[in-house]
Amino acid sequence: MKFRVEVICVSEDGTEQRHDVMEMKRQKLAMETLGLSMAEGKAILQGVQDFVASQQVSEDLKRRRRCPNCGVRHHSKQAGTSTIETVFGPVAVPNPRWERCPCQTEGPKTFRPTATWLKGRTSPERLYLESKWGSLIPYEKVADLLKEVLPVSRSTNDETVREHLQAVAERMEAELGEEKQPDPVKPELDPELPLPDGPMTVGLDGGYVRAAHKEGFFEVIAGRSVVAFRRREEDAVPPRKCFGFVQTYDSKPHRRLWELMKSQGMQENQQVVFLSDGGEDIRQVREYLHPNSEHVIDWFHIAMRLTVLQQQTKALEEKQPADAAAVSQQLESIKHLLWHGNVEEALERMSNLFVDLDLIGDHSSSAEKLAAGVAEFQTYIRNNQESIPNYGERYRQGETISTAFVESTINQVVSRRFVKKQQMHWTLRGAHLLLQPRTKVLNGELEAVFRRWYPLFRVQAQAA
Ligand SMILES: [Zn+2]
Repeated sequence: MKFRVEVICVSEDGTEQRHDVMEMKRQKLAMETLGLSMAEGKAILQGVQDFVASQQVSEDLKRRRRCPNCGVRHHSKQAGTSTIETVFGPVAVPNPRWERCPCQTEGPKTFRPTATWLKGRTSPERLYLESKWGSLIPYEKVADLLKEVLPVSRSTNDETVREHLQAVAERMEAELGEEKQPDPVKPELDPELPLPDGPMTVGLDGGYVRAAHKEGFFEVIAGRSVVAFRRREEDAVPPRKCFGFVQTYDSKPHRRLWELMKSQGMQENQQVVFLSDGGEDIRQVREYLHPNSEHVIDWFHIAMRLTVLQQQTKALEEKQPADAAAVSQQLESIKHLLWHGNVEEALERMSNLFVDLDLIGDHSSSAEKLAAGVAEFQTYIRNNQESIPNYGERYRQGETISTAFVESTINQVVSRRFVKKQQMHWTLRGAHLLLQPRTKVLNGELEAVFRRWYPLFRVQAQAA
């Protein structure tokens, strides 16, 4: 048997235009000949798309042909077509240049009637698909997938996907506006502002990605902003949102974080708590991101380090069970002290433990190792002394002390896309721009961005 696919365009006035898209034959029925093949599906989509698009444009040109002022037809100055890349392949649409009507005396002598709607050479849905998938998987894979399942141009490749994604990212960056100078708003300065109802928490971490041109590595900062309170009982807690940037490239990190937190309901006088693993580099970042912030070591990192030390006492247990038990108990009490923000006492306890271990160390290598671990931990706590609050008190008040998100954020935002393969090399700009649509995708916001830019984009999807 034979199938013929035809598209019929029915105009407003009822006239019909028919267009044959394709014909296909079927003989032997088998699993693989049942229904349409991928190639046939692509051919149909491309054929329908091409006809629909050219009809739309022809119809629009017909409507604009007569001068709205006097009704005289515009003279054609130049014919011409433009090719637009869509999800269902490239479509060539008429794009003429017409002469200005003689009844008009102002403005340019010729014009393109398509200028009212024709912006760029790529359809928004195509840009959306490429930005979304390009931010999740390597550009090359996106190009392969698009070519396999959609009738896109054969010239689609990793370069074109990257260009499209970067164009989208540049538009996002431009939309962000100028860098906002950190303004130290203090609650007491503006009595008009309502009292903020709880701190917003931002988890920060850095990760390294391999630089292009054999220039080693550079740092990428990723973070997540969490609101853990509700303005009113009936309100939902705003969803957590992640962000990312390349510190040595970004020209508006402060504005970036500010807009993100504002979208989560931040007030001008909101208190911001930064949680991090206590690394020196991150300490500097949060200072320029938000000068009035408080910095807290994520409890997860303190607890994790202590867990490692506890595990090391196991090695001591075999030969010196009594010493091991005593050390383990000491570690437990250090943990307790730190939980209550009692840093001075915790540091003193560590010094004592270090001396104890040193005595045991004369006859035991596992005690020596443990002593080294305790010394390292002590340095870590001392360096971050000012960022260790009374976790117990905070916990009771329902404040975030840890969500372990500091590490998972860097994995989610950076590692999974940037360091999957050792061969991947990045420029500062390339990495920074990729992070922008990527974080929007992870936050579930990319579609909303496109809808803001193109109000008719996926309107049905929004209504559903
Ligand atoms: Zn006219």
